[in-house]
Amino acid sequence: MEKKSTATRTAHCLVLAFPAHGHINPLLQFSKLLVHQGVRVTFVTTIFHAKIMQKVPPSIALETISDGFDEVGLAGAVSLKAYAENFWEVGPLTFGKLLEKLGRSKDEHVDCVVYDSFFPWALDVAKRFGIVGAAYLTQNMTVNSIYYHVHTGKLQVPLIQHEFSLPTLPKLQPQDLPTFFLTYERKQFLLQYPVAQFSNIEKADWILCNTFYEMDKEIIDWIMEIWPKFRSIGPNIPSFFLDKQYEDDQDYGVTEFKRDECIEWLDDKPKGSVVYVSFGSIATFNKEQMEEIGCCLKECSHYYLWVVRKSEETNLPKDFEKKTEKGFVVRWCSQLKVLAHEAIGCFVTHCGWNSTLETLCLGVPIIAIPFWSDQSTNAKLMEDVWKMGIRAPFDDKKVVRRDALKHCIREIMEFEKGNEMKNNANQWRTLAIKAVKSGGSSHQNILEFINSLFYLECRARF
Ligand code: UDP
Repeated sequence: MEKKSTATRTAHCLVLAFPAHGHINPLLQFSKLLVHQGVRVTFVTTIFHAKIMQKVPPSIALETISDGFDEVGLAGAVSLKAYAENFWEVGPLTFGKLLEKLGRSKDEHVDCVVYDSFFPWALDVAKRFGIVGAAYLTQNMTVNSIYYHVHTGKLQVPLIQHEFSLPTLPKLQPQDLPTFFLTYERKQFLLQYPVAQFSNIEKADWILCNTFYEMDKEIIDWIMEIWPKFRSIGPNIPSFFLDKQYEDDQDYGVTEFKRDECIEWLDDKPKGSVVYVSFGSIATFNKEQMEEIGCCLKECSHYYLWVVRKSEETNLPKDFEKKTEKGFVVRWCSQLKVLAHEAIGCFVTHCGWNSTLETLCLGVPIIAIPFWSDQSTNAKLMEDVWKMGIRAPFDDKKVVRRDALKHCIREIMEFEKGNEMKNNANQWRTLAIKAVKSGGSSHQNILEFINSLFYLECRARF
């Protein structure tokens, strides 16, 4: 095991995350890496989200800020727009109060704020207190680059072109861009928020991204000319599923599973025989789409494990049985453990960035049904660049029909194409492990970042 840097033992980092699984998970994982190196971490999220988190790793302190909806979170707002507007007003105020409170105590002195780049205001607040700010980009570098080009005016909205050539990226069609470009005329604000990540980014002392150099070489070389303080530090996935340096690091650390029924169910299924279906923590497909997925799974000849969140259960096909010999529908699972199980043959996913990275790190081929946001871009990369899966085709109503999905499942589960994709995914897995291992690209970058914290901590002490 790597020797801890004793010098960094008292450096204190505040890690601020947007209240959603796709943000909490990687930022918490990054926090654990800092703790392993002797950095003290206080994790910060909203009052409401802290209430629904089942646990936090014991080595990490928890503090909260307000989004203005402390009782029910987003559900309390009349719209996403209203939620964000309120949050962007109340969040900076309460974050400032938190920094003020911690600053009053000598022991709690904060050396650095690592902020979810969705909160550009956090950098302004940190700077007001004279604290170093590190932006953490939770989306992939292609997506970040697309939004950055909107920020600089090089990519214009509303879209006027039918094909886009941006530096170092493959040619992109409108449907490959984040969906917020396509809905821009109706809902401008949806695009404004991710673009605003870059409004003050040049003032950040560090720009960290949950990717690894070997996967994004060209784009990282290009962006480092513009942002010299950019560093790839991923994949931020529990160590047990990657380099196994910390064998007991087997989940992100926020969900409690008393008895893992899914794993028990998977245990007696043959190798590569189960289709795992999950669309993350936010996507809400309509009844028609759920019906098509449900009927496909029932009719196709493979086992399936399907995550349908409680809020989505009403959209299941009528009388759909939740547990049969062939299939199991659960409300949530330990996704990493499921993906790592040898019974899994493919993953039908919305292509959220975390799910995409997880499946890439575990060598599982993908069938993509993107729902919104960056997922269509991730699906494009997964199919055309990393070549580890296929996008399920949809019809004029934007619904993936049961026969189309059945065809994709057969291609991956029964034909050589599936093996090729699995091999490709496994090659990415090898590179990802190399990046996070001692001496690897992400590992070196994390050490460089931590050493800078040590320097700050020394400066504060003397
Ligand atoms: N996840 C999980 N159990 C589930 C479904 C999802 O643990 O049943 C985790 C998954 O491993 C990932 C996160 O939730 O880390 C979802 O993030 P992603 O970026 O893929 O999608 P989002 O929820 O942001 O749309």
